[in-house]
Amino acid sequence: MRRQNLAIAGLMLLALTGCNQSYSQVQQPSPTAKLKVVTTFLPMYWFTKAVVGEEQPVELLIPPGTEVHDYQATPANVSAIAKANILVKNGINFEEFLEGTVKSAQNSQLKEINASANIKSLAGNPHVWLDPVLAKQQVINIRDGLIATNPEKKATYQANATTYIQKLEKLDAEYKQRLQNYPNCTFISFHDAYPYLANRYRIKQVAVVEIPEDQLSPTDVQKAINAVKQYKAKAIFGEPGVDNKLLKALSQDLNLTLQPLDSLESGALDPQHYFTAMRENLKVIENACK
Ligand SMILES: [Zn+2]
Repeated sequence: MRRQNLAIAGLMLLALTGCNQSYSQVQQPSPTAKLKVVTTFLPMYWFTKAVVGEEQPVELLIPPGTEVHDYQATPANVSAIAKANILVKNGINFEEFLEGTVKSAQNSQLKEINASANIKSLAGNPHVWLDPVLAKQQVINIRDGLIATNPEKKATYQANATTYIQKLEKLDAEYKQRLQNYPNCTFISFHDAYPYLANRYRIKQVAVVEIPEDQLSPTDVQKAINAVKQYKAKAIFGEPGVDNKLLKALSQDLNLTLQPLDSLESGALDPQHYFTAMRENLKVIENACK
């Protein structure tokens, strides 16, 4: 699969290089032209859209509902980056498809904003957006990157970012207040997405049981059972929207409830959806820890 996609990217590269010669004169953006802002996946889209505001479109490379961890770039992605002024990414090696795609796009004007700049990663885990405090840092990084590229919109970007940041601070206060009573709450996840969140609010992701997407093997089941027993875990967290029949059976055997915890890798496009989904997660964690 990977090899096939690279071949497509290679073809696109040839096509774009061919076009570049004749279009380069007319495609120079005029100072008043709107910026073309491209983002990689949903949380980057939300944070960027929140800062940029309503009047300016923001593009999203990975459509919601598409698996983001093993994402393979499409020719449309190459073409979007080829025409963009700004590319916003999460960084921390999350968007593995990006390096080759950016190369193929051959856009020397492109400015990349790494939303995780100055964020200390935990063992290279990319899921920083699930901690509201680090999400705030990502919004600040995106805001400052946008201002550096388009200083005439500074006031707008600052005002929009401040509004969103205030909501992130409120969310952080809610998490702190509601989870402070469960310092020893331990959970097992099937997606290694929550080390930052757990770290921030002093709950413990004690184990991550990697499971295949389609079905559990007896070995997977045994691994999960061992983890639950070893850590006396209070909850099993699965992904919302995934058929969890096997996990459900497993959790019943272990007398634990299976709770859906959202890694926010898919969902609605509205930047406010971050707060809806994070508050839903807070409810789930609180109930599981009780
Ligand atoms: Zn993930």
